Amino acid sequence: MARITIVGGGVIGLSIAYECQKRGHELTIVEAGECGGQASGAAAGMLAPYSEIEEDPDDFFRLCQRSLQLFPAWQNEIKQSAQIDFEYNESGSLYCIFHEADRLSLETKKSWQKKFGVESFILSGDEVRQKEPELSGEIVAGLWCPEESHIYAPDYVSALLQACRNTGVCVIEHAGEATLGEDNEVITEHYEIEADYTVIATGAWAMKWEEKLGFSLPIFPIRGQICAYEGPSLKHIIFTSQGYLVSKENGSLVSGASEDIAGFNTDVTTHGIRRLEKWSKKIVPKLLSETPFHTWAGLRPATQDGFPLIGRLQDSPKVILATGHYRNGILLSPVTAKIVADEIDGKTHDLAIGNFRPERF
Ligand SMILES: Cc1cc2nc3c(=O)[nH]c(=O)nc-3n(C[C@H](O)[C@H](O)[C@H](O)COP(=O)(O)OP(=O)(O)OC[C@H]3O[C@@H](n4cnc5c(N)ncnc54)[C@H](O)[C@@H]3O)c2cc1C
Repeated sequence: MARITIVGGGVIGLSIAYECQKRGHELTIVEAGECGGQASGAAAGMLAPYSEIEEDPDDFFRLCQRSLQLFPAWQNEIKQSAQIDFEYNESGSLYCIFHEADRLSLETKKSWQKKFGVESFILSGDEVRQKEPELSGEIVAGLWCPEESHIYAPDYVSALLQACRNTGVCVIEHAGEATLGEDNEVITEHYEIEADYTVIATGAWAMKWEEKLGFSLPIFPIRGQICAYEGPSLKHIIFTSQGYLVSKENGSLVSGASEDIAGFNTDVTTHGIRRLEKWSKKIVPKLLSETPFHTWAGLRPATQDGFPLIGRLQDSPKVILATGHYRNGILLSPVTAKIVADEIDGKTHDLAIGNFRPERF
């Protein structure tokens, strides 16, 4: 049994805490604000590696695919432990195009997906509208990928937090910005917590640990602005090259998301939301007379090479990093939890994670 302190209570920190506590370790989470109060609570909740990743699948894609495969059992376990439902929906997705010239991109996607054992189908515009009657008559074709799914991110965070508490994790919220002491103890204004392992899961704020850890951490906050309409309801996740639409059980239709650089600012801008409105109305003409009833933004932790940072530090093996999950942190939460727990337990796993070494920059 090891004492483990996790800094950061987003989906990554919470998932690692749950998995490690379940395996018999003694966990403490230290969160600057509220658990899930940053990127994790702002996410659209899609579990969609086949649509999100354009081409050239690599170790990152394999990590995403494994996490998608873990999700059915994982979400069931979290739901049972927390007794909180978070709308896991195996909806499938439709990646739609408006121009014949883009058909090749659908065929390319379909052919690399096939290599990874994924069944997907190219549909004509009419077939797309048979599946989703609210979609525009201008859509000429779509790639239907039945395996993609989604959850409701704010409730997923609540469930993870409750599952952590129910299994005995000590959760310290509103702790302010924690730092590391000489012996890797976690220090906040009111606490000094000694541990056998410290996991840094601080999302878009990870770069702030660069000086303390003594190596380069090029992790950047990329703001995602996102909005929701009151319906209409869609059965599938709808992707285009400009963004996505996904319906939630509360009747909202979520339209996302911008990618802009604004430091640590999480305000929405008129320009950012107008852009989302423009393209979502093009996909679902019924939205032409609608205005989003809710707008919000979050900071995705992007890395210089697009890969996350997962693993223990070579010079300080008691310190583990788990950050930089960019657009796929919700999807990657179960696999990240299992990799970190395996590292602590000294177990080997079959995924290639060498490219995710924290010190690689
Ligand atoms: C608009 C939007 C839509 C998205 N949609 C999807 C999606 O559909 N599917 C998907 O898989 N992903 C999606 N993402 C990406 C996903 O949200 C992130 O990859 C994921 O939430 C990252 O989780 P995290 O725990 O690393 O970071 P965060 O959720 O940001 O958590 C990090 C936590 O660390 C805390 N912290 C930072 N520094 C310190 C410190 N020094 N001391 C104590 N605490 C600290 C912060 O307060 C924060 O709560 C989306 C993101 C955005 C913004």
